[in-house]
Amino acid sequence: MYEGDIASVLISEEEIREKTAELAAIIAERYPVDAPEGDLLLVGVLKGAVFFMTDLARALPIPTQMEFMAVSSYGSSTSSSGVVRILKDLDKDIAGRNVLIVEDIIDSGLTLSWLMRNLSTRNPASLEVVTLLRKPDAVKADVPVANVGFDIPNEFVVGYGLDYAERYRDLPYIGTLEPTVYGG
Ligand code: 5GP
Ligand code: MG
Ligand code: MG
Repeated sequence: MYEGDIASVLISEEEIREKTAELAAIIAERYPVDAPEGDLLLVGVLKGAVFFMTDLARALPIPTQMEFMAVSSYGSSTSSSGVVRILKDLDKDIAGRNVLIVEDIIDSGLTLSWLMRNLSTRNPASLEVVTLLRKPDAVKADVPVANVGFDIPNEFVVGYGLDYAERYRDLPYIGTLEPTVYGG
């Protein structure tokens, strides 16, 4: 599939699976099975986080519920400006709940810092973040991310939910694209 488009495999399917299990074990320790706040609420940001979120939910040994948000950040297609618009909001009230934002990748951190501010005004009992991938710039951004799967180089990656022009999300691994794909 997508033969000739993929330049390199950065993170294999197996590495993603192992890391997801590792993160799940760490996260599960912080949330009791019968928390008074109810089941841990995973909040995924469409569409990139979907693959990671469903695998993480199945790896977590505690009951979880799922909500999704869709946002659009204005700016160029390869970097975000921090101006965010809600395209689809959560279906449910999160007041008093333990909320875990599930992210695919943090680059500038602008999308996430906006999301943290937005969700914290809704008075959740707790609000934390788990991201599968983090790029170098995110370290500079002032967003507290408790759980990071992989720190990756400053390269554009696709697969496992991440797209280029809506393609490649269905790849089971994380990889980089041949320059020809970008019209090179
Ligand atoms: P931030 O606001 O942290 O700069 O941007 C985060 C969003 O930018 C991610 O949710 C993702 O949609 C997009 N993004 C950032 N880096 C990459 C990348 O390497 N590949 C893909 N496909 N999307 C990326
Ligand atoms: Mg995202
Ligand atoms: Mg995208």
